[in-house]
Amino acid sequence: MEVNRGAPVLDTLIIAAALAVAAIPTALPFITTITLAYGTQIMAGKNAIIRRLPAVETLGSTTVICTDKTGTLTRGEMMVRRIWTGREVEVTGTGYDPAGTFRLEGEDLNPSKDRHLSDLLVAGALCNNSRLEEGADGWNVIGDPTEGALIVAASKAGVLEYVEGWYLGEVVEFPFDSEMRRMTTVHRSTDGLTVSMKGAPETVLAFSGRIMKDGSEEPIGPEDRLRASKASDEMASWGLRVLALAGKEMAPGEPLDREAVELDLTFLGLVGMIDPPREEAKEAIAVCRTAGIRPVMITGDHKLTASAIGRELGILNEGGRVLEGTELEEMTARELDDVIEEVSIFSRTTAEQKVRIVEALRRKGHIVAMTGDGVNDGPALRTADIGIAMGKTGTEVSKEASDMVVADDNFATIVAAVEEGRRIYSNIRKASSYLLSCNFAEVMTIFIGVMLGLPVPLIALQILWINIVTDEFPAIGLAVEPPHSDLMKDEPRDPAEPILTRGLFLYTLGISTVIFIGTLGLYANALRGGVTIEEARTTVFASLVIFEMYNAYNSRSLQTSFFKMDPRTNGKLILGLAASLGGLLVAIYHPFMQRLFETAPLGGESWAAIVVTASAVVLAAEIFKRMELAEKRSPVR
Ligand code: ADP
Ligand code: MG
Repeated sequence: MEVNRGAPVLDTLIIAAALAVAAIPTALPFITTITLAYGTQIMAGKNAIIRRLPAVETLGSTTVICTDKTGTLTRGEMMVRRIWTGREVEVTGTGYDPAGTFRLEGEDLNPSKDRHLSDLLVAGALCNNSRLEEGADGWNVIGDPTEGALIVAASKAGVLEYVEGWYLGEVVEFPFDSEMRRMTTVHRSTDGLTVSMKGAPETVLAFSGRIMKDGSEEPIGPEDRLRASKASDEMASWGLRVLALAGKEMAPGEPLDREAVELDLTFLGLVGMIDPPREEAKEAIAVCRTAGIRPVMITGDHKLTASAIGRELGILNEGGRVLEGTELEEMTARELDDVIEEVSIFSRTTAEQKVRIVEALRRKGHIVAMTGDGVNDGPALRTADIGIAMGKTGTEVSKEASDMVVADDNFATIVAAVEEGRRIYSNIRKASSYLLSCNFAEVMTIFIGVMLGLPVPLIALQILWINIVTDEFPAIGLAVEPPHSDLMKDEPRDPAEPILTRGLFLYTLGISTVIFIGTLGLYANALRGGVTIEEARTTVFASLVIFEMYNAYNSRSLQTSFFKMDPRTNGKLILGLAASLGGLLVAIYHPFMQRLFETAPLGGESWAAIVVTASAVVLAAEIFKRMELAEKRSPVR
């Protein structure tokens, strides 16, 4: 092919330079980063703190959210509602306010006069690291809410003062650990040593060799164990969080290693705490369902407690399964794979099992978001596509391992973050289409123009100015574009799908075709009118910018009509458009810039022609939007 019909070498060089500059979407990586960064700022305002930028994009394609129960789905404000000491005792009151009564079969009961009940409450107060404080906003617990509830119960019973008077301090503590599911302390009393244990009922029962009955201790028999675990199951099935308490006396000087301390305890009874579900969690779970995201509860709590809460929140539906940690332990990876998609709740789960759950879900092609708060949760958080740590109750270790921290520990915040991730992704698509349409249009204008035998329509500097200056400002505005439809009504996007799907590619190509045909038309017309080459090129320059301004406003949505979009909902874009126009006018009218850019002032008629011609892109986009062209899902490969 003969290049430009014998044009001088210089001209050929200009064409080559112009084409090279036109073909590179210089602004794209920059705009992508800006959009993500803006997004994280908005998310931070909604309590979701992003620790790794790419997580934002992944969030939008989440298909499973594995979440803790306590404090995330529930409020984490515990209150002892029921106590079992062989008899069933009701506890009244609200929240952490230490006012309330104890009732046995409808009759008020004075717990400080009941040796068994007060021993149980004392054990709960001793085996404890929390404090109760009265502030301006009412009563608060400093520390673990589960332990706080036990302090409140002891306070209601009036045994707290006794604890403070009689016991001289803690000698040993084996702290609570969610793998061991128990905590044990030894306190010095005025006449010896007192051991107290609290933990999951089956765990505490396993350490108990004796049981308190009617105020005296007896060896524990199989029937006693059965009655206790039945009572525990009953409370759990109402959604109560159940702990058992046990204790014993030791003589001073006895060895204080864990084995000796936890040997042959006396079982004191059970406490059942309410931990009401969060209202917003219920709504957030419903949103997950319409958004094609499966919520899964992973908890250290009892199967029945977890099921009751899960049912109330809508996590556990007909056909949903509950899998216990011990059952999971027995399964091979293959067996787990077979059931994983039916399991809605994992109960009595360990941190290691969490890793297995994430791995199994990922093998099924899921994009998994998982919460964790404990020191052992690091591996699970790292294995998940999105590891989520809890801002309030989470350990430093878990935050280090996470991609996102949820400042308010709230499940609803996670779902809001997913929605935000979807919005950001969709805005990156819009900005990409917008920016690429300009690159396509520039390349085609130059290429077809030269093929038609016209002088090079643009010089490289003009193209650079469009790509780096006038296009950039509206693209930043697109980063903050609010959604035009409910993003949580769509299925999650396939993470393997490229940003430029076949549909979006065709849409963008269509838009740029209109732009370059319009621009070349204006160019040819100017040349035919006998203007200088500078003025003709300025027409092309201005035409591309004005076309792109229309298109930027258009790109606010790839589905919604140009005329249905409210200019007030994106002030930044309007500013961006103004900046874009400013950039164009400076390049055309500033004397220094005129020399640099080889531009010439345009007359009113030329401007009118440009503004009218460029509006054609709105018409084209309107047709593409009706055709839902950008939505055609199949990807370009
Ligand atoms: P989750 O956070 O999923 O509710 P945890 O691991 O905190 O699960 O608790 C598991 C079980 O351990 C609870 O059902 C309860 O019986 C017991 N437990 C919880 N907190 C404590 C604690 N501070 N001390 C002793 N036992 C506890
Ligand atoms: Mg916990």
